[in-house]
Amino acid sequence: MIVIMKMDHTAEHRAAVVQRITELGLTAQPIYGETRTVIAVLGPVVPEMRDELATIDGVDEVLRVSKPYKLSNREVHQDDTVIEVGRGVRVGGGHPVFIAGPCAIESMEQLRASAEGVKAAGAHILRGGAFKPRSSPYSFQGLGVAGLTMLREVGDDLGMPTITELLSVRDVEAVAEHADILQIGARNMSNFVLLSEAGKTGKPVMLKRGLASTIEEWLLAADYILNEGNPNVILCERGIRTFETATRNTLDLNAVALGKRLSHLPIIADPSHGTGKWYLVRPMSMGAIAVGADGLMIEVHPSPDHALSDGAQSLTPANFAALAEQARALAAAMARPFASAPGAPVAAG
Ligand code: PEP
Ligand code: MN
Repeated sequence: MIVIMKMDHTAEHRAAVVQRITELGLTAQPIYGETRTVIAVLGPVVPEMRDELATIDGVDEVLRVSKPYKLSNREVHQDDTVIEVGRGVRVGGGHPVFIAGPCAIESMEQLRASAEGVKAAGAHILRGGAFKPRSSPYSFQGLGVAGLTMLREVGDDLGMPTITELLSVRDVEAVAEHADILQIGARNMSNFVLLSEAGKTGKPVMLKRGLASTIEEWLLAADYILNEGNPNVILCERGIRTFETATRNTLDLNAVALGKRLSHLPIIADPSHGTGKWYLVRPMSMGAIAVGADGLMIEVHPSPDHALSDGAQSLTPANFAALAEQARALAAAMARPFASAPGAPVAAG
């Protein structure tokens, strides 16, 4: 259920609504949009509460929310959510961004080469995995905290906000300290304790869709983060498992287009994991921008043949630059030009 406040309501009116909801044993979550303020009522609501809340001063109307996900629902928040992720970069609101960098941070040299390449091509946000969720326990597991330190140093040098994955509650503190955006990977989308703990940091969280999760399950997972009072949630479609084996996953562009309709949260597409093949990353990036993605997450390695993880889907910096140019042209033609990239110059030497 949502309580829509009148345009001219006061803070006292809002407090009275929150107090009554709390007295009823429910949770109130105010949501401040550009055009209206809504108070979401969370918990086991009964229809009679609707009439009661509607009589409080300052209340315009009280509506049922038809879907099980409440806070991520566009019915509750009609405007697009725009998230400040650091260094003036904003995600959402009609200006796509590039998130790019290596799958895994392997060394300072490798990270710097990738980062300088993507920065020169106009990337906004630097990615790099320090804690890697590998299918095999014998594969490279990432550099851990040493990798986080490298990511922060290179991000600072290049003036780029950073994103990196956290695998468990164990990693929350370290990742929140070193990175601007916390990434919850596909394998952890249903790790509800991790979602809540990541939400409690208040930092932007990018939530990848689970390998076999429905759109509804994905949005419910987003609600776990939002329910901690953290409005900074970015969704990421990274492909789902289907019967098809010719590609690593099936990038579900329906989920981008439908997700934008169902939810106010920004949606990034990840054609690297969505295809598993470097030569499909550019065409599927164009598809994602065409259907309204708020940005692209692309894996870039200075020497994909030598990558310790996901080399087959990683682009060279030159290929990323070509992709970026084409994506910018397409987005501009659709009157949704890419956001301008952070201005700090590339560090000398
Ligand atoms: C990644 O971004 O490197 C990653 C492991 O992604 P996913 O969780 O989508 O597999
Ligand atoms: Mn990867």
